[in-house]
Amino acid sequence: MVSETFSGQVRENHMKAREQVRDSSDFNSWIDGSRYDTEKTFETIDPVIGEPITTIPRCHSREVDTAVDAAWRAFDEEWSETTPAERSQLLFDWIEVLRDHIDELSVIECIDTGKPISQARGEVEGAIGTLAYYASICQSQEGRQISTAEDLHLYTRKEPYGVVGQITPWNFPIWAAAWKLGPALGAGNTTVLKPSAEAPMTTIRIAELSEGIFPDGVVNVVTGTGSEVGGALTEHDRVRKISFTGSVSVGQKVMKAAAENVAPVTLELGGKSPFIVFPDADLEKAVNAVADGIFYSTGEICDAFSRTIVHESVHGEFVDRFIEKAESYTLGDPLDEETTMGPLTTESQYETVMEYIEAGESEGATLLTGGGTPDDTDLQNGWFVEPTVFDDVENDMRIAREEIFGPVQTINTFSSYDEAIELANDTEFGLAAGIATERTSIVHNAAADIEAGLIYVNEYGPILPEAPYGGFKASGIGKDLGTEVLDHYQQTKSVYVNLDDPEL
Ligand code: NAD
Repeated sequence: MVSETFSGQVRENHMKAREQVRDSSDFNSWIDGSRYDTEKTFETIDPVIGEPITTIPRCHSREVDTAVDAAWRAFDEEWSETTPAERSQLLFDWIEVLRDHIDELSVIECIDTGKPISQARGEVEGAIGTLAYYASICQSQEGRQISTAEDLHLYTRKEPYGVVGQITPWNFPIWAAAWKLGPALGAGNTTVLKPSAEAPMTTIRIAELSEGIFPDGVVNVVTGTGSEVGGALTEHDRVRKISFTGSVSVGQKVMKAAAENVAPVTLELGGKSPFIVFPDADLEKAVNAVADGIFYSTGEICDAFSRTIVHESVHGEFVDRFIEKAESYTLGDPLDEETTMGPLTTESQYETVMEYIEAGESEGATLLTGGGTPDDTDLQNGWFVEPTVFDDVENDMRIAREEIFGPVQTINTFSSYDEAIELANDTEFGLAAGIATERTSIVHNAAADIEAGLIYVNEYGPILPEAPYGGFKASGIGKDLGTEVLDHYQQTKSVYVNLDDPEL
């Protein structure tokens, strides 16, 4: 279905939104508490109209050096002296400013990524909620006293690394930035963050909105390409920890680069998450969960439920209902509140998704719906792809094995519990999985048997800051979110104090 409000008016709406966001900021890098411009720039493109929104500084290793120096200065001179309560207060001060800019940040995220405005707003609020969580829990950091010989006082201290390097992708820019910044700052580190060149605007803007709150150099955002800025950051010998979110192939490069400096890494990588529909499932819940899990954010989601594995006894009914659901999405202008699916974020992602759709057809899967771009001529300048569903998918087909990162669902069937689990686990990835069933015994057995870091039962999402988030197998190392991520941004020191008998 194509939104009726999507007409010649759309370009005008986007031009207006572009002017509005450009009035708020020049979207420079943010280094040492100041805006930082470079001679060379790159453009960030509005995926609805295929035109630039603004230019962004194209930094290189020199700017990474400057930012790392600033971050160390800030750490040594001020940040390392702050108490958790002081850091908590500063995070809450920042959150208060961000709350005043929710509408502005939502529009920026919407036009930079193509996400429907309602989803962009939800992610801005999610980012603020994540920061608030770390502002709260960072106050309760503590070491441990270890009981041992009477003449010994033995205890542990948790200490920050100092300067950490953080790299984020383009699919959840502001949310991913908050996942990184909240715990790193709360744990007492200063940071140099590199957002994706494809959608860097909200990350720049939230850094600017920290002006006057954190000491200069505590938060640095260096913009540029992956190889020029990301490479320089991960290879930097004064960056003491790296946290990366992105693809497996780049994650491997990041890990190799960090190994040179023996810097610990957290890797949040891709996925090919299964969703198993058991024979007793409430099919309405199952259809909604799978649809949310593959069509939210046009399928550009790391934990997308991209492989649905349906029991043969309910396959026919599930497929009928799922096609109806897929065809009910409203493709249109993401600035319109009625739109439920926007374009893909980049032209190259559009090409990738279309190639996978062709591969699915040529490998013999049955295309049930979608597979193309909407007919409406008003959508032709945007990178729109219809919600697409393939049936009769074998697990060795490329569309079942590789991360597509688009609104493409694959469906295959199973006949026994063991077969379902085997199919679910037959993947290099292990980020997330879903199951639909009303039986408690299946819930807990499947949750234990599936190799994935997140299990959703009868739903897709939510993602809450309280719960650790991260993958098994090739989907990553370590976690974002939850209390344990504070540990990932700290190192433990054991202190032995000799308590000889006092002789006065
Ligand atoms: P990507 O790997 O291409 O890029 C991620 C980031 O790394 C970008 O900022 C990029 O500029 C940077 N980069 C590129 N080359 C680099 C290099 N040589 N050294 C250092 N940094 C480099 O990923 P993407 O296309 O931006 O994002 C999509 C991928 O991210 C998908 O695979 C998706 O599943 C994954 N992802 C994972 C999670 C998670 O939490 N597990 C969340 C969101 C996205």
